Amino acid sequence: SVGEPHGSRVESVKVALRIRPLVKTEIDVGCRLPKEPQVSIGKNNLSYTFNYVFDENEGQGKVYNLAVKNLIENLFKGYNLTILAYGQTGSGKTYTMGTNYNGEGELGVIPRAVYDIFDIIESRKEDTTFGVTVSFLELYNESLYDLLTDKPREQSIVDIREMNNGICIPGLTELQVQNVDNALAILKEGSSGRVVGATAMNAASSRSHAVFTINIKIMNKTNPKDVIASKFHLVDLAGSESSKKTGATGDRFKEGININKGLMVLGNVISQLRDGQHSFINYQHHNCLLFEVFRLSTTFLLSSLRQIPDNPNNMTDRLIYIFRPLKIALC
Ligand code: ADP
Ligand code: MG
Repeated sequence: SVGEPHGSRVESVKVALRIRPLVKTEIDVGCRLPKEPQVSIGKNNLSYTFNYVFDENEGQGKVYNLAVKNLIENLFKGYNLTILAYGQTGSGKTYTMGTNYNGEGELGVIPRAVYDIFDIIESRKEDTTFGVTVSFLELYNESLYDLLTDKPREQSIVDIREMNNGICIPGLTELQVQNVDNALAILKEGSSGRVVGATAMNAASSRSHAVFTINIKIMNKTNPKDVIASKFHLVDLAGSESSKKTGATGDRFKEGININKGLMVLGNVISQLRDGQHSFINYQHHNCLLFEVFRLSTTFLLSSLRQIPDNPNNMTDRLIYIFRPLKIALC
């Protein structure tokens, strides 16, 4: 476990692979779907193993119920939880996460998680007091935007700071939520403020990372000093494609560089941790805002991001990867 001093390994990161339904052009070039929880990608036919593989027939409910639902309980034990959606533009990250929530269609991970969180709260109301707040931020071109502020977009940029051995975003709006409807209204409102840029690859591709955070405080009524706090970060990363592939120039090209740099730094940090060479990461070497955001959500990240080839072929266009770094509580 990453939280224990001598690091006996429990699985603190899980990787799920989701394949969205094929489009006609993909069928025409002969794309195949994996039969087992393993998939081969690229020229070298390298194989990778995942905790879950969801094919194009699996709906939002199944993805959530298998890969996410049983993690929610951990939040109530004081564990932090992060879910990252990684993949090329158009692979289904936003759809899966539900970051574009508008009250229609099949619900993604965020609204489903919100329902489950409030179900648990409802069932424990008698002996426990709960406080739930949410924040929603967007990392776009190395600036951090508060998606829940009343201010106009240009004035919604917030700073990330180093404080008491941790990272915080002092001006970030944190809204109290009393119930599911509250939380979903906020998600909807925040989503609509996200920047959306058009690239040659996808007319509505997102060039930004979005982080929806649910903070939970749990107070025992008979022993008010007994307080647990946990954070749930739900991250919809920007497209992982290279700027070469999108045909981007100018501002779009610059955004692409920032995004790729951010994802690369994140990948390097994750593989350092995975290799077990570092029990702590030297954060100073990573002067990159995306990484700071991840530091916010996880003290430790363990995964196999580097094993996942960002290969511009038809297969990877349709894949998304979800990571679940579990931080040991209260540190
Ligand atoms: P990304 O955020 O990775 O760029 P999107 O989530 O916007 O990709 O998905 C691209 C398109 O594919 C959207 O129109 C979305 O509704 C659709 N889509 C993605 N995943 C699925 C799925 N599993 N089932 C049906 N449609 C999907
Ligand atoms: Mg998206």
